[in-house]
Amino acid sequence: MASIFTKIINKEIPCYKVAETENCLAFLDINPNAEGHTLCIPKKEIDNIFDLDTELYNELMLFSKKVAKALKKAVPCERIAMSVIGLEVPHAHIHLIPINEMKDVTFVNKKKFSETEFKEIAEKIKASF
Ligand code: 5GP
Repeated sequence: MASIFTKIINKEIPCYKVAETENCLAFLDINPNAEGHTLCIPKKEIDNIFDLDTELYNELMLFSKKVAKALKKAVPCERIAMSVIGLEVPHAHIHLIPINEMKDVTFVNKKKFSETEFKEIAEKIKASF
């Protein structure tokens, strides 16, 4: 069965898109740790990030770096944290999380945003990409 992220890639499920290239996609996490929490994924559905071939792994890393720079411009924060978890969705992804302190990366303190707010945040990041 296709992963939820493959359904997003295929536009069967909506997302707040931030950036896209031929092989990668970035969109806002639906249950974010912070404003601008973004997921960067390869379009090819592979569960474990460390099973990506070197070329695609490097491409995803460079794509994430570019998205992180755009995110830093769009969302005021101390740092952009990068995290790979993968316990919930079996489709490789990198979390990019604007943080000000260590607790912002704990995946416990979740933030709520309206649809309008999500759209505004995504547009701001997109404009900086
Ligand atoms: P992980 O697999 O790294 O443990 O967590 C998966 C992440 O994907 C979670 O932060 C969760 O909020 C996010 N997520 C799960 N389903 C969806 C979805 O349908 N859309 C979006 N945008 N994010 C999702």
